[in-house]
Amino acid sequence: MRLAVYDDYRPGVVDPVAGLVTPVTTSSTPHDPDPLGASWWVRLCRDGTVEEAGEPRPLDEVSLRAPVLGPGKVVACASNYAAHVAEMRDDVLPRAGVTGDAWLLDFDVFLKAPSSVVGPRDQIVLPEQVLREGKEVHHEAELALVVGRGGRHIPERDALDHVFGYTIALDITVRGTGDRSRRKSYPSFTPLGPWLTTADEVGDWRELGIELSVNGDVRQQVSCAEMLVSVPGIVAYASQVMTLEPGDVILTGAPPGVGPIAVGDVVDVSIGGLGSLELPVVAEQVAQNPR
Ligand code: MN
Repeated sequence: MRLAVYDDYRPGVVDPVAGLVTPVTTSSTPHDPDPLGASWWVRLCRDGTVEEAGEPRPLDEVSLRAPVLGPGKVVACASNYAAHVAEMRDDVLPRAGVTGDAWLLDFDVFLKAPSSVVGPRDQIVLPEQVLREGKEVHHEAELALVVGRGGRHIPERDALDHVFGYTIALDITVRGTGDRSRRKSYPSFTPLGPWLTTADEVGDWRELGIELSVNGDVRQQVSCAEMLVSVPGIVAYASQVMTLEPGDVILTGAPPGVGPIAVGDVVDVSIGGLGSLELPVVAEQVAQNPR
């Protein structure tokens, strides 16, 4: 099943070939159009069952939103592809003036603010202060998973049973010194979508390939099989630290080829079988006299 959230935060099942979305419901998860009432979505991630409940509509006539609602956490992985670790060590970190922080090159997990999430038809907004300071803002195209059944101390052998589905993520990042959570949590710095594809439909995550282009030039292209820590390994590792809950989002790390984006660029990411995202890059408009 390909599950989208659209219009007034309503769930629908997508048929990408026909270009249609059909509204769905379940008796245990009555839809609430108030995004703050997202507990119906959390139960849907946990239970994974829906019933079709309406007429299909053309996908290009609806507003697709991020295929998650109010995630309790957005977890992200650092240093999970060897060639990306090398480019960070040899190029990106020295250029950003970051020295003596060898721990940045070790695999680990960190948190992004859930308020950084936007949908597949939104914009990447470069913060005014970051532009003024001339810092590089980079694209990182990543496979993301949405947690189904939660848990703590999940063994790696059972971890895939806790994955509800997969979607495409961008982990937009300000380069420079300081904590990752600050440099990666600005509003719009976590585009997700275009919909969530359930794990049963995806099959083997290692067969997925990520491709990102900027203004049509391919910059990142990788097979997910090249991850240093596997998807089940990531779930097991994160759950040693934090209790994973239904609806939590986990980004699996950046492939090599990260680089700067600028106002006017268009960023395109696709993962075979999961769809594609296309977002323009714009500058934050700050009011001169905010009221
Ligand atoms: Mn990342």
